[in-house]
Amino acid sequence: MPGRRLAARWLLPVEGPAVERGAILIGSDGRIEAVGADATVPHPPGVVAESFGDAILLPGLVNTHTHLELTGLAEGVPGHDFPAWVRRLRSRKAERSPEEFLAAARGGLADCWAAGVTTIGDTGDSGAVIEALSTAGGCGVAYQEVFGPHPAQCEESLAGLQGRVEALGRFVGGRVAIGVSPHAPYTVSGRLYAVTAAWADEEALPVAVHLAESPAETELLTHGEGGFAEAWRGRGIPPPAPLGRSPVEWLDCHGVLGERTLCIHLVQVTSGDIGLLSRAGVAVAHCPLSNRAHRHGAAPLDVLLSVGLRVGLGTDSVVSGGTLDLLAEARAAAVLGGLDAEAALALCTVSGARALGLEREIGGLRVGKWGDCAVIRPGRATAGLAPAARVLASGPHDVVATFVGGRDVHRAEPMS
Ligand SMILES: [Zn+2]
Repeated sequence: MPGRRLAARWLLPVEGPAVERGAILIGSDGRIEAVGADATVPHPPGVVAESFGDAILLPGLVNTHTHLELTGLAEGVPGHDFPAWVRRLRSRKAERSPEEFLAAARGGLADCWAAGVTTIGDTGDSGAVIEALSTAGGCGVAYQEVFGPHPAQCEESLAGLQGRVEALGRFVGGRVAIGVSPHAPYTVSGRLYAVTAAWADEEALPVAVHLAESPAETELLTHGEGGFAEAWRGRGIPPPAPLGRSPVEWLDCHGVLGERTLCIHLVQVTSGDIGLLSRAGVAVAHCPLSNRAHRHGAAPLDVLLSVGLRVGLGTDSVVSGGTLDLLAEARAAAVLGGLDAEAALALCTVSGARALGLEREIGGLRVGKWGDCAVIRPGRATAGLAPAARVLASGPHDVVATFVGGRDVHRAEPMS
């Protein structure tokens, strides 16, 4: 790939102040070689140079929680009964063939790029997303899911997971990593959590868990009651052991919480839980619009940030949220956490990179990092606002172009 030089009216490096009439130079290795005022960034011969006029150039967005294999399964607003929704989703997934999962994953990745997202943290069990990332030259962590609420299934589930991770190893490398995701406390036994966490630790694999999402999950773990508990009883599954813990405490007592653990949702958390999460040093995937759509409540974003947790934003699946619009999540997070536009934008760039352990590689426009960027042309109605506020007021329809490692992966209109 020849190098690439991009210029625009505004450059928002995120890790550094905004630059009016800024530019970036990306080398043939895909890494940033220069960034700053247009007049100071070199024009080496042979480099593809492009100016985006009055647009805003910023780091590619980091979506820390997707389920791209579910692309195309969107269907209106989720119902109020979360356990029933989970069961419906499971039966709809069971109807999909491997080819359909792969097509969905490819379509979902293209949707991410079209929305200015260049890195994803994805959970799924089909293996389609890591294949899509690898073959399309994308960037992300694909967390392979494992399920098994009955303790007697534990060994079989772990062996299945280990086999899948080994088989998917052929897609790992470059900018694609694999992790594991013991799905959620209502689909995974305590034993399976413990052995999966221990194995992930041995293999230095990152872990993602859906945690403290719905009141029904808390009911299951604290009292062995509620919608999930009823479903378990119907399938002859013994209640979680030990009972009487919050979801966060329960995962902690199975050795799951640590610096390589990404906790998704964290809505139903007490101040004691937050202390525990903070001591464990976990990362957080905050999904405000999914939480709202399911009526789970709101995560205490301000508190999660104030104790220094690494928080990124996630859209969750299209089945929960409807669209993969990370800037809409950032607007919701700004309201929830009392954040200004810069802080909200940091959540979906540099802070998301930190949550995925990729802060040395991506998340800001800085020399040495990957040349991942999005070009956004906000609507005229935002003209009076500062550049970060204009980006925050934008959406996928305002994304003009997206680059991964300097490679052109999306154009709103064909290159002239
Ligand atoms: Zn999810």
